Amino acid sequence: MAMTIGILTSGGDAPGMNAAIRAATRAAIAKGHKVIGVRRGYQGLIEGDMYELTARDVSDILHRGGTMLCTARSKEFTTQAGLEKAMQNCKSAGIEALIVIGGDGTYRGALDFSRLGMPCVGIPGTIDNDIVCTEYTIGFDTAQNTALEMLDKLKDTEMSHNRCSVVEVMGRNAGHIGVNVAAATGAIDCLTVEVPYDLDDICHKIIEQKNAGKTHFELIVCEGVVHDDFTSDHIAKYIEQKTGVTSRATVLGHVQRGGAPTCFDRVMALKMGYYAVELLVNGQRNRIVAVKNNKIVDYDIEDALNMQKGYDEKLHSVLRVLSI
Ligand code: ATP
Repeated sequence: MAMTIGILTSGGDAPGMNAAIRAATRAAIAKGHKVIGVRRGYQGLIEGDMYELTARDVSDILHRGGTMLCTARSKEFTTQAGLEKAMQNCKSAGIEALIVIGGDGTYRGALDFSRLGMPCVGIPGTIDNDIVCTEYTIGFDTAQNTALEMLDKLKDTEMSHNRCSVVEVMGRNAGHIGVNVAAATGAIDCLTVEVPYDLDDICHKIIEQKNAGKTHFELIVCEGVVHDDFTSDHIAKYIEQKTGVTSRATVLGHVQRGGAPTCFDRVMALKMGYYAVELLVNGQRNRIVAVKNNKIVDYDIEDALNMQKGYDEKLHSVLRVLSI
């Protein structure tokens, strides 16, 4: 039976969200269903900001970063009144099931909405790769390659000036971008929430390496470890004072969110978008699409939210060993 499926993006944007919108929209249309695009995440659902998506409406977005549907964080959706308004608008638009692309917060919203009676399927989209139930989230590969490109540029100038670059990368709760780019750029270390570190030990290592002839250094800092009294600037000043090596902090910031998705992100988005529609068509409800052992799988939303995420501690220890 033909269904009307709503689709939205929520939380932080990530490159590849557009590719997932395109995949889900066209998969649904190809299977005889109708698709309603909701603008600005759950806030758009509450405000009734939605329109029918045709196959042509999702043309020319596959290679673009950001999300054509826009995204938002909605406080109102965490309230009963907000959920009920959103449900009323879904009913008016004929939406019978909802695909949400976002992170764990978005899934919590989907869980509440599903308890009110709306079947939901989640697709993981966030650059931090910090969604607990999945090995991979759409946008991560693009973001880490963007960060790496910036690091390579910084390396040119830090090498010319015999400096230490302290580079802050995104990752509020997780250091997946940080550890990968630290390994890929040959950084001295990566300060992340998952692994203990000692700034004095790092300074000592810098002094030893400087005395052995090394002229330039990079230290990666994940945004999750910094706060007002311990910024990347503070870290750079501390290193300079302790080691005598001129140190500069660079915060990469939101540039990591943008840009054309990599081939990997586009293909993952395509597979996940298609899979999400297959779940709904096969009568599955309240599931999260995820990656396990490199295969696309799905979990119950509540179970998915209670899982634990791993961190590549081995890679972290290897990068420390190789930085000599
Ligand atoms: P990112 O990892 O990029 O931040 P996210 O999906 O985790 O993505 P959030 O801002 O945490 O981003 O969540 C997105 C939206 O989901 C929120 O603005 C809110 O509308 C909804 N949401 C979050 N937590 C809840 C909750 N506990 N109950 C209901 N809705 C929620």
